[in-house]
Amino acid sequence: MPDAILTVIEQQAGKLNRMSLETLAAAQAMGRDLGREVEAVIPGSGVSELAGQVPAPKVYALQHPLLEPYTPDGYSIALRQAIEQLRPWLVLLPHTYQVRDFASKLAASLERGFVPDCIGYKVENGQLVLTRQLFQGKMNADVAFVGQPPYFASIQAGAYRADQLASVSPAVERIDVRLEPAQVRSRPGERFQEAKRTVDLSQAEVIVAVGRGIKEQENLSLAQGLCEALHAEMAASRPICDNGWLPMERQIGSSGQTVSPKLYLALGISGAIQHVVGMKNSRVIVAINKDQNAPIFEVADYGIVGNLFDVVPLLVEEIKKAKG
Ligand SMILES: Cc1cc2nc3c(=O)[nH]c(=O)nc-3n(C[C@H](O)[C@H](O)[C@H](O)COP(=O)(O)OP(=O)(O)OC[C@H]3O[C@@H](n4cnc5c(N)ncnc54)[C@H](O)[C@@H]3O)c2cc1C
Repeated sequence: MPDAILTVIEQQAGKLNRMSLETLAAAQAMGRDLGREVEAVIPGSGVSELAGQVPAPKVYALQHPLLEPYTPDGYSIALRQAIEQLRPWLVLLPHTYQVRDFASKLAASLERGFVPDCIGYKVENGQLVLTRQLFQGKMNADVAFVGQPPYFASIQAGAYRADQLASVSPAVERIDVRLEPAQVRSRPGERFQEAKRTVDLSQAEVIVAVGRGIKEQENLSLAQGLCEALHAEMAASRPICDNGWLPMERQIGSSGQTVSPKLYLALGISGAIQHVVGMKNSRVIVAINKDQNAPIFEVADYGIVGNLFDVVPLLVEEIKKAKG
């Protein structure tokens, strides 16, 4: 239907991508608030059956043998054809690595802008206003579209919950794509396979997580002392693992592990959404941060505004005293 919100669904080897379902949940909420239909489109080769699993009233299976495997050329050409045919008001995409690869090209091919990485929205005077984080979550910016639709936006991981999707059985419609081999100018290499995890933080009852506030690898011993006092597992934000200070399997967040311990202590972690989505369901969250405006305090049950190098030794001392 013209003027609908069209959600792009990503799939991999016959499985729907989780962030796409979160994005569909965002589209459903927007649809309710704005009085617009929600539809979905799933690009690939032979995706009709999978399209039947997408909970939207109308799902378009955008099919061509050249859409398997994914390429930015194939996807942007195919989706452009679908958008020209369906004339949606808004095209909503999950903010996945794949979408980051092709969405700007797709929007530009239709002479439109693209608002990436949104974490929420509101409706002001009937107009959709999207919220994006800037400077690694230190500021939020409200963004409204100008000019003619279709508009393009992507939704960050964890911003909406897939388990809140209204269940709908879809009518699936097939859209055939016109695509020539010469139009697809790249060939993907082998898929990157993550190393198997040896630490399962999802089972930990207490987690002490360190962030960039720890400053140096040598200072991890401070957090280690707290871990020993609390019988906790150590975890980290992404920069710590990117630096190689702790193994990747100890990273918490959208590209790491999702945990829900009884107690989560965040030391020098700012609280970027990509981190928060991995730990927000912890039963009790304690944050130590020297910046009283750090976003981590928005999800913390207890906040200590202070220098972790002063606070942590005191904490260890008090825990030891309490334990006798
Ligand atoms: C696609 C993508 C995926 C991502 N996936 C993840 C992910 O899975 N997990 C993840 O964590 N991040 C992820 N990120 C990165 C994320 O956006 C943030 O950059 C990251 O979480 C920031 O880590 P941080 O809080 O340790 O560092 P910073 O944002 O630099 O924050 C450091 C904090 O320490 C505080 N501080 C400094 N010194 C002290 C002190 N002495 N005492 C107390 N506090 C102090 C500061 O006030 C600040 O708030 C991802 C980003 C992208 C783009």
